[in-house]
Amino acid sequence: MKPTYTVAIDPSVDNCGWAIFKKGKPFKYGIIHPGTKKDHYLKKAGEVAKSIFRIVDDLSEYEYPFDDIQLVTEIPQSFGNAGFLARESGAILKLSFLAGMIYNITPRTKALEPQQWKAQLPKCVIRARLSRIYPKLPLYKGTKRVYCVDCKHEHPIHDLDHNIVDAIGIAHAYLSGGV
Ligand SMILES: [Zn+2]
Repeated sequence: MKPTYTVAIDPSVDNCGWAIFKKGKPFKYGIIHPGTKKDHYLKKAGEVAKSIFRIVDDLSEYEYPFDDIQLVTEIPQSFGNAGFLARESGAILKLSFLAGMIYNITPRTKALEPQQWKAQLPKCVIRARLSRIYPKLPLYKGTKRVYCVDCKHEHPIHDLDHNIVDAIGIAHAYLSGGV
């Protein structure tokens, strides 16, 4: 039996996007901003993980082990990091630590590397695809098309925070096999 809820996480110790799908459709979403930006990442990671645990726990109709919930989290790419700059390795370390904490929240959390759910797709393309699939999501502000420096073409101004869009993309990709 498929779980009723899919909870997808785009891990970050500062702006952690989350999205809940209920029976395969977007249901709720949001962003977790733990403590203050200056706090140590271990403290922030702990607070983010606690918030995600609460989201999962509030949804569950059952006691442990959350039989009606599938938690899905992105994890950092485990290969092909040759292009990373040294200053980015600190960010990868923090993300890995947080992703490990999230992974441990349920007994069968699914971990997806970026490559597995979005390949090389730019954020703008993912947003455009999700907006076609889920037209009710507030992905854009209005319909007036303006030039986008990110994807070098015209589309309406982004609305929903990109960390939340990533979480929605992760849930969609998990349920549908890709974005
Ligand atoms: Zn764009």
